[in-house]
Amino acid sequence: MSRSLLHKSIIALLFVLAAPFAKAACELEITAPDTLAFDQTVLEVDRSCETVKLTLTHTGQLGKNVMGHNWVLSNESDVTGIANDGFNAGLDNDYVTPGDARVLAYTKIIGGGEKTSIEFSLAGLDASEYTYFCSFPGHWTVMKGVLKIS
Ligand code: ZN
Repeated sequence: MSRSLLHKSIIALLFVLAAPFAKAACELEITAPDTLAFDQTVLEVDRSCETVKLTLTHTGQLGKNVMGHNWVLSNESDVTGIANDGFNAGLDNDYVTPGDARVLAYTKIIGGGEKTSIEFSLAGLDASEYTYFCSFPGHWTVMKGVLKIS
């Protein structure tokens, strides 16, 4: 085996070994019950992820019109503006203004027993921390957490 081929083989082996870990780090799961809280206030994702898959599960029983939850990602400084505008956008728009450029990623609003997933790119998300929150009216002030990209 030539030195070059050996080198390539080692790289290939390392890639195979690293793959399961990379996959795990690029998939996030978060849940919320019939109260105003996510089960995690910190999520971490690896910057090397091409896309991040996030799954939100509503473990409660109440309908989305009374205890709806979503997952919205933005800069901390944009949370209040997004939420206020989202209130006007209403449930039909998942309490997110269509085309709101401050929103970096978001899921639809779901009710008890439902689950939803999104995939988003980390391209352009150059900061190390972003805020995630539920934009349902009244929830966003307390129902939030930090997404760390490292
Ligand atoms: Zn909520």
